[in-house]
Amino acid sequence: MNNRIYQKYLARKRFGQNFLHDNSVISAIVSAIHPKPDQAIVEIGPGFGALTKPVAECIDKMTVIEIDRNLVNHLAVHPFLNSKLNIIQQDVMTVNFSALSTNMNKPLRIFGNLPYNISTPLIFYLFNYIHVINDMHFMLQKELANRLVAYPNNKAYGRLSIIAQYYCHITPVLEVPPVSFRPAPKVNSVMVRLVPYTKPLFSVKNLSKLITLTKIAFNQRRKTLRNSLCDLFSTKQLAEQGIDAMLRAENLSIEHYCRLANILAERPYSKN
Ligand code: SAM
Repeated sequence: MNNRIYQKYLARKRFGQNFLHDNSVISAIVSAIHPKPDQAIVEIGPGFGALTKPVAECIDKMTVIEIDRNLVNHLAVHPFLNSKLNIIQQDVMTVNFSALSTNMNKPLRIFGNLPYNISTPLIFYLFNYIHVINDMHFMLQKELANRLVAYPNNKAYGRLSIIAQYYCHITPVLEVPPVSFRPAPKVNSVMVRLVPYTKPLFSVKNLSKLITLTKIAFNQRRKTLRNSLCDLFSTKQLAEQGIDAMLRAENLSIEHYCRLANILAERPYSKN
């Protein structure tokens, strides 16, 4: 990032603006993404283009989605980037990624140093478009990255871990300290790679049942399943699935949650 431009610019907290300026981190991220010319590359929140420039050097054209008009104006007149970018000035949470993929006639490779304030809802939003996504690389707060990759019997394991791991194989790629950003956030960040499964690991008949079930279970994560799921399953019904009702939500595997969700899906007139 050009220091002179940045000094004149007041980072907007409400847009989660923490700009990357550490060249070694930037090149590690770009190598992890490994962009190729024939791919449909989409960046969420390009900012001043810290990642956009090195990625654009590897390809002919890419799409960027940026909400901040000042940053869009900067990118639009950038001498190297202006001819390389298809700029969408829009809130990413309103972008139709299916249409984007259809326009490019390819599945999307999405990446971004995400605005921290919308990372979780954005990841859930993107799962609606999982069928048109090839992979995703996101810089996230470390705590959120830990939740994405957490396994059962871990405090970080919860609804997000289950839904995300149902859709994707997730791997942490790189840990990044606060000094690599301007302004520096208070916490470490981690870049993660999410690769959607072509065939889900577990079959789920009705995904909304899995979402509801995990919501109910983790709303009261300190309670035993006998208590937290008492409106849905008796102790006997849990035992039939090989589940000890004295366990807590964080002890159940994703497979178990999928199995229970499938039972709910088969119940006639179930309100859950
Ligand atoms: N990629 C740049 C970098 O690494 O230096 C900037 C990253 S900064 C953490 C997040 C970027 O996302 C900012 O440019 C911000 O304006 C943009 N942004 C925030 N909320 C957004 C939204 N709802 N839709 C699209 N872009 C958004």
